[in-house]
Amino acid sequence: MKQNYFDFIICGGGASGLLLLKALREDPFFDDHSILLIEKEIKNTNDRTWCYWETPSGSFDPLLSKKWNHAQFRSEKLNQEFDLSPYQYKMLRSAELYKKLHKEFLKRKKTTYLKAKINDIKTTEQKSEVLTSKGSFYSIRVLNSVFNPKALLNQKKYPVLQQHFVGWFIKTKNPCFDENKILFMDFNIPQENETRFLYVLPQDKYSALVEFTLFSEKLLKFEEYEKGIRSYLETKGITDFVVEDKEQGIIPMTCFPFEKFNSSSLLHIGTSGGWTKASSGFTFMNTIRNISRLLPFLKTEKPLNNFSVRNRFRFYDLLFLDVLSRHNSKGSQLFIRMFEKNPPVRIFRFLDDKTTFGEELRILNSFSLKQKGWFLKALSQRIF
Ligand SMILES: Cc1cc2nc3c(=O)[nH]c(=O)nc-3n(C[C@H](O)[C@H](O)[C@H](O)COP(=O)(O)OP(=O)(O)OC[C@H]3O[C@@H](n4cnc5c(N)ncnc54)[C@H](O)[C@@H]3O)c2cc1C
Repeated sequence: MKQNYFDFIICGGGASGLLLLKALREDPFFDDHSILLIEKEIKNTNDRTWCYWETPSGSFDPLLSKKWNHAQFRSEKLNQEFDLSPYQYKMLRSAELYKKLHKEFLKRKKTTYLKAKINDIKTTEQKSEVLTSKGSFYSIRVLNSVFNPKALLNQKKYPVLQQHFVGWFIKTKNPCFDENKILFMDFNIPQENETRFLYVLPQDKYSALVEFTLFSEKLLKFEEYEKGIRSYLETKGITDFVVEDKEQGIIPMTCFPFEKFNSSSLLHIGTSGGWTKASSGFTFMNTIRNISRLLPFLKTEKPLNNFSVRNRFRFYDLLFLDVLSRHNSKGSQLFIRMFEKNPPVRIFRFLDDKTTFGEELRILNSFSLKQKGWFLKALSQRIF
């Protein structure tokens, strides 16, 4: 038993698992604590591109493939360009992060890395047992980032939308892009009774990541996303290009209370812990913020299920998702009103859970009378 016991077990070595390992290993308080990280894959590829906004000089800046100071929001009736100050929009390709964190942290003392498949986690008040393809391991603190969508899909109380997309990294023959500016959302495409937009991240004048993205319930066939990208590029006169790489993603958008699966010896982290911002799918910075709150909590040695990431913004997200799932064909109108009536930086701060109550009322006030009615109905159904 002793050799299979660790002070911490981190399940999954993706974003949240590796960032948590980094935080624990950088803090001298945990020097004597043994950590086991279990991951089923060799994580060394660009399996995703993380983008996030942050003030200049963040800790991963040396790894970034690009950062931008300007953005654009587009729809049929609104074409807004804006300065992102005090933020920059940053792009980090996953292989860069995996490489750095593997090199710096997997070989630290009292750190064990196990390439194995996790089959199950059994939890009691005293300890949790992680059952893997290479045996069972025990800890009084298991931090699990392996996402299991089963419970989510077997319930009706919390709507589950998905942010789903396919992206093409393209290179064009002629200069087609403004490399200083991202296209955050372009709703000026057929909505097909859903919430659909294009997202464009130029690398330079000749290359960009172009993503066809939906906030909706049902996934499309791969070809349909690709058709969406191709016809969008055509409308922009971009026909002479090569696709150098592709990326696909499905990110759950839900306020399902993932924390109910926590116990005193098991805490779910990352997407599996509900750390994905339900209204937008952004997870990366939320994960960094939650880990910085989790670390002092772990020092207290309190039962893990006392750690909470719930706040009033979760309730706003809940209402927003209620409305977006009921009026999915009108989602673009909600975003258009928000960008039309607010300085974009206020929206970014809102998505970071950093606005004041007064600012939140102003955002609510951006919606039309009819849209406010949708929110009021969602509110009354959640309360009564
Ligand atoms: C393509 C894509 C692009 C994204 N872009 C952004 C973005 O731009 N900005 C943003 O904020 N968020 C983005 N996200 C959302 C989110 O940031 C990422 O999904 C992030 O990686 C979530 O971190 P995580 O640790 O919860 O999950 P993951 O990073 O997926 O880590 C979970 C790990 O568990 C491992 N695992 C799974 N099952 C097992 C098992 N049975 N046994 C052992 N190991 C297992 C997986 O291999 C994986 O490494 C994106 C997601 C995707 C898929």
